[in-house]
Amino acid sequence: MKSMKRALMEGSSLSRIRCCILRFRSGTQGLVGLRNYGLSCCVNALLQSFSATWEMVDLLDRWNPVDKENGSVPLQLRKTLVTMRDFSGHGTHHWDFLHCLNRHEISLHIQQDAVEVFLSILNFIQQQMHDKTLAQKIQCLYKVDVETYLQCTKCSNIYSGTSFFLCLPLTIRETQNSLEDCVRLFFELQELRGKDECYCERCGEKTPSKHGFKLISLPPVLCLHLKRVRNSGGFTKKLHSQVSFPETLNISGILTAEVLSKSYVHQSDSQYNLYAVIVHSGCALCGHYTAYIRQKDTSWYYANDDYIKQVSWAEVQNAYGGSQRDGTAYMLLYRRTLKDCSSG
Ligand SMILES: [Zn+2]
Repeated sequence: MKSMKRALMEGSSLSRIRCCILRFRSGTQGLVGLRNYGLSCCVNALLQSFSATWEMVDLLDRWNPVDKENGSVPLQLRKTLVTMRDFSGHGTHHWDFLHCLNRHEISLHIQQDAVEVFLSILNFIQQQMHDKTLAQKIQCLYKVDVETYLQCTKCSNIYSGTSFFLCLPLTIRETQNSLEDCVRLFFELQELRGKDECYCERCGEKTPSKHGFKLISLPPVLCLHLKRVRNSGGFTKKLHSQVSFPETLNISGILTAEVLSKSYVHQSDSQYNLYAVIVHSGCALCGHYTAYIRQKDTSWYYANDDYIKQVSWAEVQNAYGGSQRDGTAYMLLYRRTLKDCSSG
């Protein structure tokens, strides 16, 4: 493993970065590879997914930053995303973005969790962009609005509020799973008993209850987190169990009446198409991130830092898991498209 000091020294020479960028061309639709500095594979894989989220790229392009925002995460992100669209060989400047994250306590020399970094980047956009309207629009791209629901099982009184997720955390079973089952499981009510009991105002005491989330609205970009890391008896372990996920997610098959909030915002008949898979290989405490990305031309590409290759959908399915040898999908990004429209 490369030392941080060495990575920093290397990062100081942009000309050297340019020499080491491995580019891939396929018309104008391929991906630009990103060099691994220290342990930047996690951020590299996320950058590939942000670059493929053209709704976000478009919003960042419309932004007029003020002077104060020079060292900000969103500005460095925008600069990097611009260079990731440049196939002319001038190289990417993602070192500046990595360095900026490092200054904001997302260290380059420890293994990061992709979901935590993803959420932190979205959070920095909210905090650091002075254009709050634009920042809000970026957040709304990913925002799953939910009703939090708690029902006392003794007096049936219901307590509810609203909340949101930018990435839906899905519990997976140790055996086999389908993504659709994981989403259904997320919306299943959980019984809170014993030490988990909550205080019911009507009963005037702690009582057993049913707790869960009901869906209010789904966003244009649906980000799903497969919770493969589990704490068990003081140890952190990774679940390599199989989770099959479709290229086209039929959301209406999941949204049954009991899942929906009374204030559910009905969308016109839509479906979700997969366009990015963040893959984790290795164990819970050390490993490597890569990404499968589908470009506008509908071709799939595999990005392993600066190594890029075109792949088939069958190869993407290798990330279902089920074996410790292969990388497993950790985050999935789906884009809403109108039914019967060609994808992208
Ligand atoms: Zn009660």
